[in-house]
Amino acid sequence: MINMRTGLCISFRFHRPVRFAKESLMAHVIVDTCKKDNLCVDSCPSEAIRPLKDEAGWEAATQLYINPEECMDCGGCVAECPTNSIFPAEELPADKQDAAEKNAAYFNK
Ligand code: SF4
Repeated sequence: MINMRTGLCISFRFHRPVRFAKESLMAHVIVDTCKKDNLCVDSCPSEAIRPLKDEAGWEAATQLYINPEECMDCGGCVAECPTNSIFPAEELPADKQDAAEKNAAYFNK
């Protein structure tokens, strides 16, 4: 039985609570093959992809980034990307493992 307030699983059999691991915030990630085509931006229902073309930082950005705290993990952006640069975090290619951290860091400047 799970206590909805605390997130603890109460085992009546052993009389001790077990805490489940917290889910990662990172849902989808853009890697450095992104060419800023911007096609993914309109597909995102949570406006998690930045920077926008009219925002400060657009020119300096070498790629687009997904805000891990805004992404709803819907996957809608994946099919829109012409360079196949968007992945679920758990499916990042071996040579792109640093991308999740880079995406998050963009929003924590
Ligand atoms: S997975 Fe969905 S919510 Fe997340 S960035 Fe892509 S379109 Fe937006």
